[in-house]
Order: sequence, then structure tokens, then C-alpha cells
Amino acid sequence: SQLPGDSMWFGLTLVSSAPTSGSKRGRTDVVMVTPWLAPVVWEGTFNPNLLDSIYKLKNIRIAATVFAVGKYTIFLKNFLETAEQHFFVGFQVHVYVFTDRPLDVPQVKMSAGRQLTVRSVPNSQRWQEISARRMELIQKLIEDNLHSYADYIFCLDVDSQFHGRWGTESLGGLVGVIHPDDRSRFPYERRPESRAYVAPGEGDFYYCGGAFGGTLEEVHLLTKTCHTNFIDDAKEGIEAAWQEESHLNRYMWINKPSKVLSPEYLWQDFKPRNPEVHLVRFSGVIKNYAAIRPNV
Ligand code: UDP
Ligand code: MN
Repeated sequence: SQLPGDSMWFGLTLVSSAPTSGSKRGRTDVVMVTPWLAPVVWEGTFNPNLLDSIYKLKNIRIAATVFAVGKYTIFLKNFLETAEQHFFVGFQVHVYVFTDRPLDVPQVKMSAGRQLTVRSVPNSQRWQEISARRMELIQKLIEDNLHSYADYIFCLDVDSQFHGRWGTESLGGLVGVIHPDDRSRFPYERRPESRAYVAPGEGDFYYCGGAFGGTLEEVHLLTKTCHTNFIDDAKEGIEAAWQEESHLNRYMWINKPSKVLSPEYLWQDFKPRNPEVHLVRFSGVIKNYAAIRPNV
């Protein structure tokens, strides 16, 4: 049987005169592949219907983790409602909400095949610790037999919302999202004493701590490594500049992601949209840090 949209390829030549669903596949204004040959996913570089039909046959299950500790529960409603509209629509999705306030988790109507589980976690007096402890708790979630429930996992910041499709085009072994800030501002950890150290001149992209994913196996290894390195740093009295995000960046420098998602996959609402970003799919909402974090 023929899959939708597979008629535009003729041997090795991309025929650009016969687009199949309105947009020509391919972009000339952005990098579409990394030097290690991982795709970089941008709007206009993939055929969503074709991809969905391939993954439908595999009956895949997607897990998503989101942490809402302390006052961050206020973000859950919008996060969950917009996920219903845009995140792997039509697929089996299991959202895991980690919170210290289970009673504040809103009831959001979920479509057939989608479900939500609440996991209790302790609160903390420091946002740095709340943020960094995610690695350990995701590692544990995967070890707690998540294999029976999911094939892929995405770990997302709760202070964010979906605006556009986030689907099968994002699937891969290890998946990172390119940070929307420009290269000169890459805040890698620069102290060689830290296990998150990235030397000047090193680093491919600066990846977001607020969105990453992949297969359970790959994400387990990432979270376990980042957590262990974070703890070992702490024993020596050092905390990386951006906590787990710094460790994630070190990890992805050494272990190259097999798929890289463009900044469409984690934009920031306060940032004007760059011209190369044709579609913002997911973005961080504007928040009052002083009002919602336990410390400054
Ligand atoms: N977080 C939380 N409670 C806190 C601080 C952080 O639940 O008090 C979680 C939440 O999922 C949040 C993530 O940690 O999205 C990262 O923190 P934040 O979004 O504040 O970092 P930013 O995106 O501003 O760098
Ligand atoms: Mn955030």
C-alpha cells in the first residue's frame, strides 16, 4: 500500500516542482543536518502525514514528564490543555505530573488513548534543587518499569505551552532542542573543576534543559549520568552555572543527539519570533520569577 506523500522522491533527486501538501520539502535558509548527520527539524523539512502513517503501524507509546513543584502548579492547566491540542495528537500519550501539591493538579479532559498519572515529590526551598532533582526522578521513573508503558519519553518544563504540532517528526534515539538564544550567549559551564565543563571553542549547539527526549534507554542513560555528575560535583562544593541544563549540554557534546529539534520546539514568549522560525510549536510563558520561585 502507498503511504501518503511518498510520490515526490524520484531516485536520488529531489523534485521540487511537485509539492504534495502545499509546502515544498526542504529549506535553504537553515541548517537541516548536523556535521554528524543528525536531522535538524524545521517546519517545511518533513511530511507530517507520511511520518504519522509510518509510526501508526508501530503502535508507539509516548511518555511525557512535567514537574510542578510549589507555585508552579499554576502552569499545569494551560500546559495540559494545549498538549491535548498539539502534542502527539492521535497517538498513545501518558503524561506524568510530578508535584508536591497533588490536589492542585487540574482535571483536564483527555482524548481516548491519553492518560495522566500524578507522582508525589517533596518540595524544596531552592528552585535550583527542584530543577536539578528532575534528572534523578526521571531516571527512577524509567527504572520503575516504564518500559511496559512507553517507547519514547519527552521531559518538558511546565511553564510552557503548545501552539503548533509536536509529533512523530521529533522522535529519535536521543533528542535535543536548540536554545533560541544566539551562539555568543551560550552559557556552558566554563570551570574545568565541574563535570559539566565545556571548554572554550567546544559545543555544537546550546541545548535547552526545558525540553529533551528520546527512547527510554537513551534518556535513562542521560538522566542517570547528569544526576550522578551533579551529585559528584555537589560533594566537591560546585554547582554548575545552569544546574542540570549545564550537565545536559556536556552530555550532548560527548553523546551527540541523533535528532536535533529547531528552536520552534522551545521558543520564549517574550522573544520576538526570528524570521527562520516559521512556526512556534512550544514556548516558555512569561513569568514573574519573584512571585513563583521559593528563593531568588
Ligand atoms: N520547577 C518547579 N518549581 C519551582 C522551580 C522549578 O516545578 O519552584 C520546575 C518546573 O517544571 C520548571 C522547571 O523546574 O518548568 C525549570 O524551572 P524554570 O522554568 O523556572 O526555569 P527557566 O525556564 O526559567 O530557566
Ligand atoms: Mn522554564
